[in-house]
Amino acid sequence: MALRVLIVDDDDIDRQSIARILKKANAATDITAVSTVDEAIDCLQSSSFDVVLLDYRMPGRDGIELLHYLNDRRIHGGVAIIVLSTSSEEALALSCLEAGAEDFICKSELSQERINRAIIHATTRFKLEKQLWESFNRVKELAERDTLTGLANRYLFEQTLRLAITNNRHKGRLVALILFDLDHFKWVNDSYGHDVGDQLLKRVVQRVTSCLRGNEMFARLGGDEFAIMVMNLDRAQQAHSISERIIRVLHKPFTIEEIEVSASPSIGVALHPDNGESAEELFKKADIAMYRSKRNGRNQISFFSNEMQNEVLRRVTLEQDLRNALIRNEFELYFQPVIQPVNGHICGAEALIRWHHPTKGMVLPDQFMDVAEETGVIVELGHWVLDNGCRQLHRWRTGQRVANDFCLAINVSPRQLKDTQLLSLLESELLELGIEPSNIEFELTESALIDDTESVVPVLESIHQKGVRIALDDFGTGYSSVSHLRLFPIHTVKIDRSVIPDEQSPQRSYALLKGLVSMLQSMELDIVAEGIELDTQSELCRKLGINRAQGFAYSKPLPACEFEEAYLA
Ligand code: C2E
Ligand code: MG
Ligand code: MG
Repeated sequence: MALRVLIVDDDDIDRQSIARILKKANAATDITAVSTVDEAIDCLQSSSFDVVLLDYRMPGRDGIELLHYLNDRRIHGGVAIIVLSTSSEEALALSCLEAGAEDFICKSELSQERINRAIIHATTRFKLEKQLWESFNRVKELAERDTLTGLANRYLFEQTLRLAITNNRHKGRLVALILFDLDHFKWVNDSYGHDVGDQLLKRVVQRVTSCLRGNEMFARLGGDEFAIMVMNLDRAQQAHSISERIIRVLHKPFTIEEIEVSASPSIGVALHPDNGESAEELFKKADIAMYRSKRNGRNQISFFSNEMQNEVLRRVTLEQDLRNALIRNEFELYFQPVIQPVNGHICGAEALIRWHHPTKGMVLPDQFMDVAEETGVIVELGHWVLDNGCRQLHRWRTGQRVANDFCLAINVSPRQLKDTQLLSLLESELLELGIEPSNIEFELTESALIDDTESVVPVLESIHQKGVRIALDDFGTGYSSVSHLRLFPIHTVKIDRSVIPDEQSPQRSYALLKGLVSMLQSMELDIVAEGIELDTQSELCRKLGINRAQGFAYSKPLPACEFEEAYLA
């Protein structure tokens, strides 16, 4: 193939004479000539060359700038560079070589032989440099990658874990180190040979990779030992979910060369900062946890600390219990009356869920709502609450036991706002049961609104457009941002009981409530005072003109039949 040469020189005469000498030296040379560094860069980007003959001194950008530009790219561009100049200074020659040129010729010395020699010299030198670069990369790859599986190796994994830990300090998040090895791998190796063992390792890596999300680091530490690092976790539970996915994907046996082999994992988990401050410490702890998994019968997950293990187990059991409870119909709605403080009349009720657990007895929502949220069980549970709440309201309405404007409050958790079926379910319930939308009020906490404002606003807008009221629950705890009252289509604010003063409260708490109420009233928001336990508090509500109140002073939440007897008889 013809030698492809790019001449970069601003002097027309020099350009032509260089081209002439080149042609004489080798007629087959393929020559391109340009007069500026910018043109040269264009040429190098669009076509490939073997050699660049580069004039050092040019107006605008000079030759050394092109050298710098090529420095990072030249190995890929694959081009050798010879600098030409009128100056014969040695210092200049050196600086060009340092900047990455392969050779340097003085224009006054230009001859057929000199240029030929320079080209051979430069291309050979370049080829060597390229080989060196490639072998450097190969060594780096070998040092950081596991050759059998292509995963990161122990060295790279440890480096990355160290960095992750440093980054995680003071962040209040968790970094999980998940170690696992394959149960009875040695037996597979010994009985079927290393080939089968190697293939099994590769297939395990494929399956595990397929169940990861891409933000984890997965490495082979050696033999059948693997490690996964996950950053930015909020809860230990998340490390458990990943580990569980690994158990699940490795559950089915592998068929390798017509041999069926199993590769269940024994998993150990340690977390930064809870279980250790350094990578070494985490490795030690995860290893201890992994051995506990083995000792307890393999194919399972262990956390390093007992409390963590117990907490995770409690949550896993709770999730399963919640799913069963839905099937077995163990939930019941209680109703707490909402009262008008001025006259003591009932104007609505809040539906509050109760769980009749087969062994624990009655369980209150605070003990299971967070797990229901985390695991998504809340979606189905939320449908159940909406359906049962609406049906109860329908029965009361058809029995003419409640006034036309009786309002049923239904609590809605943050996750439910992402439930695409919630709105259609609401719509069909209202239609089927002939309930006025304004007889339903959805109660949301502020955390639901700020989590993902952009996606929440349209959902709230459509609830609002249907005519269903929206209440902001527990106002006065957490954010209590006035801007939320403006941004979202809120009809009612429920003032949390922590804001309602009692006899021991300082004068200031009273002033705070008074100010809050008058602000909400001037925004024309409806107010419900929560947690009214004392007659004095009920009196205070009357004094401040709060239109709705609920709390033990009026009644505890009651089962539907007791609620009927007490309030709807
Ligand atoms: P919340 O919506 O703020 O409900 C008020 C809670 O205060 C209820 O607790 C109620 O029993 C309690 N309470 C009522 N009056 C008084 C009082 O005078 N003094 C005191 N100390 N407490 C009073 P509960 O039923 O245990 O519910 C706790 C939370 O669980 C609720 O807070 C709500 O956020 C959530 N929740 C309850 N049911 C559901 C539901 O069906 N769906 C959803 N997503 N969340 C629910
Ligand atoms: Mg509520
Ligand atoms: Mg509340």
